[in-house]
Amino acid sequence: MSQVSERLAALSPSETLAMSQKSNELKAQGIDVINLSVGEPDFFTPDFIKEAAKKAIDDNFSFYAPVPGFLPLRNAIVSKLKKENNLDYKPEQIVCSNGAKQAVCNVLLCIINPGDEVIVPAPYWVSYVEMVKLAEGRNVIVSADIEQDFKITPAQLEAAVTPRTKAFILCSPSNPTGSVYSKEELKGLADVLARYPDIIIIADEIYEHINYIGKHESIAQFENIRERVVIVNGVSKAYAMTGWRLGWIAAPQWIASACNKLQGQYTSSPGNIAQKAAEAAYLGPQDCVETMRQAFERRRNLIVQLASDIPGLKVRQPKGAFYLFPDCSYYIGKSFNGNKINNSADLAMYLLEEGHVAAVGGLAFGAPNCIRFSYATSDENLIEAMARVKKALSVLQ
Ligand code: PMP
Ligand code: GLU
Repeated sequence: MSQVSERLAALSPSETLAMSQKSNELKAQGIDVINLSVGEPDFFTPDFIKEAAKKAIDDNFSFYAPVPGFLPLRNAIVSKLKKENNLDYKPEQIVCSNGAKQAVCNVLLCIINPGDEVIVPAPYWVSYVEMVKLAEGRNVIVSADIEQDFKITPAQLEAAVTPRTKAFILCSPSNPTGSVYSKEELKGLADVLARYPDIIIIADEIYEHINYIGKHESIAQFENIRERVVIVNGVSKAYAMTGWRLGWIAAPQWIASACNKLQGQYTSSPGNIAQKAAEAAYLGPQDCVETMRQAFERRRNLIVQLASDIPGLKVRQPKGAFYLFPDCSYYIGKSFNGNKINNSADLAMYLLEEGHVAAVGGLAFGAPNCIRFSYATSDENLIEAMARVKKALSVLQ
């Protein structure tokens, strides 16, 4: 008999991590799988960051840290926000967590009462809707398809607002679509939100530095909503530090204090060594960020070209992050050896089993007609993977 709580039973496992796990299992059986499922940079963490971590060990950073993180790290984040985003924060408004994932979850747990609504644009990152469920909130999904570049309009946002709306989650550059909202588009959304002063805006900017159209624009720049925006960011993507587990929020004081209180009973601070590494990342030379961004841009161009050559896939050029999110509806309903592909999850499974390429079906992102390929891998892998996908799709009937 299973005795898990109703809360746990209602939770879906992370599809991105599940597909990656499956791909690793096949690899362990000796099958040559190319893993384009999980989204993480394939680069090693830059040396100067690793050196700072080694020094932190030698300097005995082995005692409990303040719950929201060491002050020098929070000061470094405050400086980053001023220098790169022209936003003013005090270190008390910064709370560091075990990755941006915990940071988002903290905020939701701190502000959502049972039945409160959270507006989540789809396609969305898999974990948002599950975190809202954990917080006993209700997801209100607003969908934007490939024809509108996967970006919602101000009118769509306004139509979703009700007296129970408590929060709005915006991810730009976006996982899974790679879409990036322009300053004008953000202003349009901000102008709607300005009319509803009780809505908290959670701006997930973890892909800030992986942007192919120029300077990052934060929705926090608009004065009319500024005091209600929580910025979520971290070192995972910009500095190739996914496994270090260091993310943070920059938030209105009452939300930062609430997250501090929650985290104090839950995980305490993130690990000290990761904190010292993150501090070095923010204070050190930034050329590594641009070098990796350029590599992602080159790969973006490559995968767009290769995928555009696959009949039936509708491809849109992503403007940021490291995901390609083509519409694959042409292949849904087709069959292989009598087995019907009923949805994009089936298609992802087919590509894994028959093509030996791991991707993630769009269903998990609230976009059942699409499929996500992470292109944070080598050019050779991308060329081989897209050749396999093309071949596997060509035999579907
Ligand atoms: N938000 C988005 C949109 C992401 O893609 C990720 C990547 N896992 C995260 C948050 C969490 O990042 P972290 O590794 O810092 O927990
Ligand atoms: N954000 C990454 C992804 O979407 C990492 C996996 C996860 O945390 O879900 O693949």
